[in-house]
Amino acid sequence: MRAFKIPRWTKRNFYRKNIILCGDALGTVMPVSFEGIYYAMKSGQFASEAIKQNDLALYEKLWNERFGKQFLIMKKFQDFMFGNDKRIDKWLNIHRNPHIQELAMALWLRKEKGNKLIPLYVKAFGGIISRIALTQVKINM
Ligand SMILES: Cc1cc2nc3c(=O)[nH]c(=O)nc-3n(C[C@H](O)[C@H](O)[C@H](O)COP(=O)(O)OP(=O)(O)OC[C@H]3O[C@@H](n4cnc5c(N)ncnc54)[C@H](O)[C@@H]3O)c2cc1C
Repeated sequence: MRAFKIPRWTKRNFYRKNIILCGDALGTVMPVSFEGIYYAMKSGQFASEAIKQNDLALYEKLWNERFGKQFLIMKKFQDFMFGNDKRIDKWLNIHRNPHIQELAMALWLRKEKGNKLIPLYVKAFGGIISRIALTQVKINM
């Protein structure tokens, strides 16, 4: 059996001197869903725009304008929700709910600019997150 690593999104340099990183080389994989194809293609599009305009800093700017907030929200959500096996089980179990399944499918299939699907998806876990946070406060008291 062979395994292939999917990179995690972390803050990296988008370019160095005359080398530009796109897709997996930059780690443009959406946290939680681990989708990399769409975002690799978008990073290529933004990089080519920056090259055309002879302004490599534009690449990161275009990326952040379009995806910066979405990746940040999902990264924070992932760090919390995938923090231990118990939480991962809770994350999996909530996907038995048809409403959450629909929301997760929409996240995969609908990428148009300005849709509010990511905040909606994260909000659906609000109850679980606050229950875990409350338990932690009690344990730490
Ligand atoms: C098992 C698995 C399942 C996945 N499932 C999904 C999914 O369902 N949906 C989704 O959106 N994403 C998925 N991903 C992530 C997605 O495949 C990647 O994020 C995406 O393909 C990255 O595109 P890329 O062009 O950056 O890199 P790649 O697609 O890896 O392309 C890089 C290319 O460069 C070539 N290459 C490497 N070194 C050299 C070299 N020295 N000279 C010339 N060529 C070279 C490689 O052969 C390869 O063809 C999955 C990844 C894995 C591993």
